[in-house]
Amino acid sequence: MNAVRLIASLSDAFGVSGFEDEVREVIQEHISPLVDEVRTDVLGNLIAIRHGKSKRTLMLDAHMDEVGFIVKWIDGNGYLRFSPLGGWDPRILPTHRVTVQTRDGGKRLGVIGAAPPHILSAEARERPIPMEDLFVDIGASSGHEATDMGVRIGDPLTIHYPFTEIHDGYVTGKAFDDRVGCAVLIQTAERLAEKDLDWTIAYSFVIGEEVGLRGAHTATHQIKPDLALAIEGTIGADMPGVREDQQPVRLGQGPAITVADRSIIVSRRVIDVLERIADESSIPFQYKLPTYGGTDAGAIHLTRGGVLSGVLSVPCRFIHSPASTMRMNDFENTVRMTARFVEVAPGKLFEA
Ligand SMILES: [Zn+2]
Repeated sequence: MNAVRLIASLSDAFGVSGFEDEVREVIQEHISPLVDEVRTDVLGNLIAIRHGKSKRTLMLDAHMDEVGFIVKWIDGNGYLRFSPLGGWDPRILPTHRVTVQTRDGGKRLGVIGAAPPHILSAEARERPIPMEDLFVDIGASSGHEATDMGVRIGDPLTIHYPFTEIHDGYVTGKAFDDRVGCAVLIQTAERLAEKDLDWTIAYSFVIGEEVGLRGAHTATHQIKPDLALAIEGTIGADMPGVREDQQPVRLGQGPAITVADRSIIVSRRVIDVLERIADESSIPFQYKLPTYGGTDAGAIHLTRGGVLSGVLSVPCRFIHSPASTMRMNDFENTVRMTARFVEVAPGKLFEA
């Protein structure tokens, strides 16, 4: 499938941490024809297996969940109060549209509101509005009307921001962290579908990364991988006001190899293999500067007796906001690098 259309379908799907059902269905449709076996575990992880000849397994990980919110209170005037699921900067929230997912799977639109500047004191206007003072207006005029519309305490919500191609090869959407990782796994499976592979490949689409790498733990216990690679959409910060040595990754410079972040110090052996692949296949790459962020690899490499693990990322600006952006050439080079990793890393890292 065309990469832009694939990423659009994944980014637009609803999938706040703990509520990944809709995005899982989209992924399942894409991945099922490309593998031998697909299952969903008790927590909601989607594990797609392509059987190999040897007993060894390579795990490719991407997380399905996106940062969002959960309704914590519905007041008598029909306004919703909310708590974050995952990391948000409260400064960017007011005036964005949101989608609330109701218990029957239906959707309600709303707007994140705050008191108008006209009535605030000069001092209050200078301060960012704390998240507990924000609210969602869904058009209900009372708490009863909000309930009649199907909204309940505990319903998840996310920013409503449909995928858009801003400029040729430059795209924006609400959930590139980590739907671009999900798309890399799907396109890698497409590239490898006809290839003869020695190792079993487990494409692992997990829940709850944004709230503490939750799904990756249980998926790794089931898959029992010998080697793992986590694919992420990560912190592109090449922009005005950010010093070069504080830009974790930059757009247009290819996939980012993690050397160390807050969750893992990657084995030199894995980094060497990724660098060699890039050299041999003439794929541009960059290093993700240590030690910003963390990924599922933090959980994967500490599971069972330990798993040799690496991280490869697609640079994305403005993640954990309604409008992440990305260059398609970085995405395509990440797919090339991941597919080559599957083909050659087992042979370079393990004896047959
Ligand atoms: Zn992520």
